[in-house]
Amino acid sequence: MNQKSPRQVHLETFGCQMNEYDSELVRSLLTRDGFIMTDDRERADVILMNTCAIRENAHNKVYTHLSDLRALKRQRPLVVGVLGCMAQNLKEELAAKEPLVDVLAGPDAYRQLPMLIADAIESQEQGERRKGMAVDLSEYETYDDVVPERRDGVNAWIAVMRGCDNFCSFCVVPYTRGRERSREPEGIVAEARLAASQGFKQITLLGQNVNSYRSGDWDFARLLVAVADVPGIERVRFTSPHPKDFPPALLEAVLSHPRICKHIHLPVQSGNDRILSLMNRTYTRAAYLTLVDQILAAGPGMVLTTDIIAGFCSESDAEFADTYRLLEEVRYHAAFIFKYSERKNTIAARKHPDDVSDAVKSERVTALVDLQRRISQERNRAYIGSTLPVLVEGDAKRSSLQGMGKSDGNITVVWEKSSVSASPGQIIALSIYDCSASTLYASAP
Ligand code: SF4
Repeated sequence: MNQKSPRQVHLETFGCQMNEYDSELVRSLLTRDGFIMTDDRERADVILMNTCAIRENAHNKVYTHLSDLRALKRQRPLVVGVLGCMAQNLKEELAAKEPLVDVLAGPDAYRQLPMLIADAIESQEQGERRKGMAVDLSEYETYDDVVPERRDGVNAWIAVMRGCDNFCSFCVVPYTRGRERSREPEGIVAEARLAASQGFKQITLLGQNVNSYRSGDWDFARLLVAVADVPGIERVRFTSPHPKDFPPALLEAVLSHPRICKHIHLPVQSGNDRILSLMNRTYTRAAYLTLVDQILAAGPGMVLTTDIIAGFCSESDAEFADTYRLLEEVRYHAAFIFKYSERKNTIAARKHPDDVSDAVKSERVTALVDLQRRISQERNRAYIGSTLPVLVEGDAKRSSLQGMGKSDGNITVVWEKSSVSASPGQIIALSIYDCSASTLYASAP
């Protein structure tokens, strides 16, 4: 790099775990090129935002942050970059209408980022304003050779595949992250070994459509077992699977391997066949429920969670009621419930009018959230009196006097540190004495 002293880069991450992982890749690529990462935004020469385009909320947050940077940029030389899905999806809008932004880089273009930033710095020093943009999607880029720069912790994310070929009609990911491509299994297992040697106790395998992983004769079930066999790794999770790619061998792997967590996040999105078809989810309510039966038949220890979109295009009251009944029937441990929000460039944006009013969407979300809260509370109540192995993560969010960890089923467990002494990364047995809809309260057994 052609620069006088190392430049400091502040990176903020929005959105999903894949973005968190990509930020670790970006940190690694930038430090390898001589940049210094800083948590202090006020001292940074470069501020990057790794963005999400999936929901309106994340999108709005990025615009708010951008307007916050206006004053900073007036005070001193500053390079502002937008990375990730918003950069990919809104490249023209951001490049043309957002004068604040100097650098745009999509999810397949992070190798070019050091060069783009260096060029933006140089152009500012010369009193010019050159904008750098790299947004080409790749059929091959998996960053297989880039070792993510992880922060200390208990869990290491490992992306096993990138992109998505499913084209769910509401989703922007196939356009922002391109076609599916899987990494070589050897690289993934080596990354898990490295994470174990760095003290990480849990691995979460990531992919937009994680269970469609395929490399030669390796499928996702085989990969999952190979990672779970890595010495030093106590727990392995994965997210997010698509119900269409759930063969018996994968369920068998989850059930039989002691270090693969008994938690499956299985996004359903809707309980109505016409809406599922409009969403292009490629399964029916009946097929989904058959899979759920197989999973829950595996035993009381299995934890099932889901994602739901309420108020998708043309969803009637009766069709929404099918989703409500599906929740009552499956009785998930938890559900992430969102209002439908139209995303630019998706199939739904082009073909299906966003015609359910915001008030109706809100009513539907509230009804589902209330129902799910009751079910989660009942599900959690069933743990009272039992003893669970808990992986300690650190302090609870609400108080540093409390410790926090996760059960094998990924349920948050909280305890008083005065009565239980444990360090992050340890698995300890705790006795559950109370609960809320989202938390189990525990003490020493
Ligand atoms: S499976 Fe559907 S919702 Fe998930 S990333 Fe692919 S297109 Fe989006």
